[in-house]
Amino acid sequence: MKHINIAIIGSGLIGRLLALYLKRAGFVVNLYDKNDKRGTGSAARAAAGLLTPFSESLIAEPEIVSMGLVGLALWPKILASLNGFTFFQQQGSLIVSHEQDKTEQQRFVKNLDKHYPHSALTQLNRCQLSVLEPELARRFSAALYLPSEGQIGNRKLLSALSQQLEQEHINWHLGAKIDQVKAQQFCQHGEIKTADLVIDCRGTGAIGELSHLRAVRGELFQLFAPEVNITRPVRLIHPRYNLYIAPKPNHHYVVGATEIESNDTSEMTVRSALELLSAAYSVHSGFSEAQILEQVSACRPAFSDNKPRINCQTGLIQINGLYRHGFLLAPVVLAHTLWAVHRQINSKNAQQFKPNEYFTGLINECD
Ligand SMILES: Cc1cc2nc3c(=O)[nH]c(=O)nc-3n(C[C@H](O)[C@H](O)[C@H](O)COP(=O)(O)OP(=O)(O)OC[C@H]3O[C@@H](n4cnc5c(N)ncnc54)[C@H](O)[C@@H]3O)c2cc1C
Repeated sequence: MKHINIAIIGSGLIGRLLALYLKRAGFVVNLYDKNDKRGTGSAARAAAGLLTPFSESLIAEPEIVSMGLVGLALWPKILASLNGFTFFQQQGSLIVSHEQDKTEQQRFVKNLDKHYPHSALTQLNRCQLSVLEPELARRFSAALYLPSEGQIGNRKLLSALSQQLEQEHINWHLGAKIDQVKAQQFCQHGEIKTADLVIDCRGTGAIGELSHLRAVRGELFQLFAPEVNITRPVRLIHPRYNLYIAPKPNHHYVVGATEIESNDTSEMTVRSALELLSAAYSVHSGFSEAQILEQVSACRPAFSDNKPRINCQTGLIQINGLYRHGFLLAPVVLAHTLWAVHRQINSKNAQQFKPNEYFTGLINECD
């Protein structure tokens, strides 16, 4: 197996994870990305890092919630195998709404109770909220608490993976734009290169080559808010947009994110900025004194059904459509892809790599 050559195209979230695990499994791995090791241009670098499957049920299909729960449970094991520091916490998340939007919140509670009775959703009064997040209790008299939800430091994870790829001597070709990814071959600067297996992890970079793949624009702010002390992800239920606030260490907050059907990655619009920042201010007035460190606009890769897909054919695996749940679903997608690779290359022993929790429909056989 040592001489089986695998080329992974795209070193955003999925490409990095796969490169590491396939190298550890004994394959010869070459990883290519058109950008740099920081993940510039990837959705992974832009993201907020929320791991909130039940909160996402507001807009996500039940399969995403189920996969997300498994993904959330698998992250600690993946992180334990990395040497670099990664921010991960699972202290639950909160959902709040203003008085005029209580009906939306009640609809959410009804839906969660009906479809996900195991969510352990708790309705908190002001006093209970003040124990978890005292500063939120000043403005909200009630909140919903989802105790199993979490978050991950996406940029810290990319950096830890980058260090790990170097420590484990993975051949990482940066500044390498790849076109025309096909079974067992790909094209770089007009030159055709070959590998036993090519794995396409280009995210939105595969639009035009993968049918029904589209881009969904998202915008968010990175803020430094010394006057805000919130420790858990908070979502604001609102009839027009879903605001979330993802706290990071040292008073850093991600405030996001818009959802726009567009492949435009140009600067944030004034409208989005007004909506995001005024909604954040309506959750906590301390955001008025925050410093804007960065405004981020990027695109999420999504298929028409907003579900991820692992397309498998001999010599080519295409992983895409992680949409707004890439971090949440990455461990599940990783486990299923490792199995798909072993089935192609090491078919006799493949069964032992089948994920314990297997999701039908994630792998799409294309041969
Ligand atoms: C604003 C925003 C907020 C988000 N928030 C969350 C969140 O809170 N929780 C969550 O779970 N998910 C979130 N996501 C989604 C998550 O970031 C994505 O689902 C995930 O990053 C997709 O991973 P990927 O590896 O498929 O693609 P990417 O991370 O986009 O990586 C693709 C890589 O391919 C490279 N590439 C592209 N084309 C080429 C080419 N031709 N040649 C070589 N390399 C190429 C790119 O440079 C990039 O590094 C968010 C996304 C956005 C945009």
